[in-house]
Amino acid sequence: MKIVIARSGGFCWGVKRAVNMAIEATKEKGIVYSLGELIHNPQEIKRLENLGIKKINSVDEIIPETTVIIRSHGVPPKTIKALKEKNVKIIDATCPFVKAIQDKAVSLEKEHFPVCILGNSKHPEVIGIAGHVRDPFILETKEDVEKIPEMPKLGVVCQTTLNSEFLSLATSILVHKIKEIKIYNTICKATKVRQEEARKLAQEVDLMIIIGGKNSSNTTKLYLISKKVNKNSYHIESADEIKEEWFDNIKSVGITAGASTPQWIIEEVVGRVETISKRGQAVERGFCKTT
Ligand code: SF4
Repeated sequence: MKIVIARSGGFCWGVKRAVNMAIEATKEKGIVYSLGELIHNPQEIKRLENLGIKKINSVDEIIPETTVIIRSHGVPPKTIKALKEKNVKIIDATCPFVKAIQDKAVSLEKEHFPVCILGNSKHPEVIGIAGHVRDPFILETKEDVEKIPEMPKLGVVCQTTLNSEFLSLATSILVHKIKEIKIYNTICKATKVRQEEARKLAQEVDLMIIIGGKNSSNTTKLYLISKKVNKNSYHIESADEIKEEWFDNIKSVGITAGASTPQWIIEEVVGRVETISKRGQAVERGFCKTT
C-alpha cells in the first residue's frame, strides 16, 4: 500500500509564529492568557495548556496586569481598547496577512467603498476584520451574494481560508450588480497551496485522510474539497479515530492536514495508517509531488 503525504499539510507560518510567541512569553511570564483558543486544535491546546497558555473566552474574564496574547486571527479595535483598559501586557500574534486585510478594509472605507467580506461571519478572523469598518456586508453563501442589491461601489476582501471556487463564483455574480468594484483576493497562499494539493492528491489516491480540529475552518474546507473528488475522504482529529475497515481493498492513501494541525499529530496518524496497512502488504511512504 502506498501512503502519500501532502507536503503543505500542518502548521502554516502564521500559526507557527503565534504558538512560538506564546511559548516564548510563558518563559518570562509563567502564565499567558489567550483570548479564545490560540489555535483550532483541541489536542494541541491541551499540550499548550500544560506549558502555561490558558484560554479565556472574553475580555471580562481577564485579570488586570497579566499577559494576553492575541491569536493569529486578530481582533476588532474595540477589543484592543478593552484590553488596554485592563492594563494587561498585550502580545499581538495577529498574522501579518490578516493584518493586511484589516488595513485593506479600512482603506476601502476611506475611499468611500462599502466593504464586503467573503467568509464565515462567525469566524474570529472575519469578526476581527469586520470590526475595523462600519457595517460591512459579510457573504458566506451563493444566496448571500445573490441578495446583495445593485449599488454604485463595493470593495471586496476575503477571509484568508476562503475556498477559491467561492471567490470566483461570488465575483462572477457581483460584477453584474456593482458599477465600480474593487476585489482583493486576500486568500492566503498557505491556504491556496493546501487546497490545490488536497484536490490533486484526492484525485490520485483511493482514500484521503484530512487531519485537524473539527472546529478548524481551513481543515473543514480541505475535507470538503477532498470529498468532492474522492468520496473515501475522512476528517479526523487524531489517530484513534481511524477505523481498520476503511482500508479494505485500498491501495493508496493520501494524508493532509489543516494549518493548525501540529506535526506530532500528523506523525501519529501516519504511524497508525502504516500499522494498519502492514497487514500482509508492503508499505511505501512518500510525499506528494504537486508542490
Ligand atoms: S493561514 Fe495564512 S493568514 Fe492564516 S495564519 Fe496561516 S499564514 Fe496567516
